[in-house]
Amino acid sequence: MDPTVRAIAVAARGFMPPEEGDALYAAGRDAAAAVPGSPFLEVGSYCGRSSVWLGAAAREGGTVLFALDHHRGSEENQPGWEWHEPDLVDPAVGRIDTLPWFRRTLHEAGLEPHVVAVVGESPAVAAHWATPLALLFIDGGHGREPAHRDYDGWTPHVADGGLLCIHDVFPDPADGGRPPYEIYCRALESGRFREERAVGSLRVLRCR
Ligand code: SAH
Ligand code: MG
Repeated sequence: MDPTVRAIAVAARGFMPPEEGDALYAAGRDAAAAVPGSPFLEVGSYCGRSSVWLGAAAREGGTVLFALDHHRGSEENQPGWEWHEPDLVDPAVGRIDTLPWFRRTLHEAGLEPHVVAVVGESPAVAAHWATPLALLFIDGGHGREPAHRDYDGWTPHVADGGLLCIHDVFPDPADGGRPPYEIYCRALESGRFREERAVGSLRVLRCR
């Protein structure tokens, strides 16, 4: 990966640890070769940190990344919650707005031609989506309902041979919340996905 682009990812606001970002990049390169011509989709972009690793892989693999987020933050990003960053609140609206940060990050990385922002509610977009995905990355709302809705709405779109990546998978409840782990288990139990790689809390699963 271009070291300048990687440095921009590492410096960007957000939650993706660099070694997990590197694994995401490798998964993107793999997926673009395995399912040529099909795009990637990320659920949960926040300020664009993970989008840089995936966007770089999309560019190098000759495809695009759809980066989906309503940019209003998850439950855990709201005031009073653990992952709230007060300076992200748009004072005119009284709600978080990460879209300006996302755009800055992708602009700085030179990835705007390869990363398409999709601004909206994940289930609303999933309900109308029809394009098979080479790679799906789930890192949206981590509550039980949002995580399972993302699983239900998006995993049917992963192409055969493509990859499903899930973030914040913690087998030990002492390390973090359950829903990302639960959907990871559902993917394995479905028989449609098998695990290929685990780096930190990132899991990379192959479709069939
Ligand atoms: N991948 C990011 C972190 C994502 S944080 C990084 O590398 O830093 C989770 C994101 O999911 C938040 O930005 C939040 O706005 C988004 N999100 C949560 N629920 C959503 C929903 N129902 N639809 C769209 N986006 C959602
Ligand atoms: Mg995450």
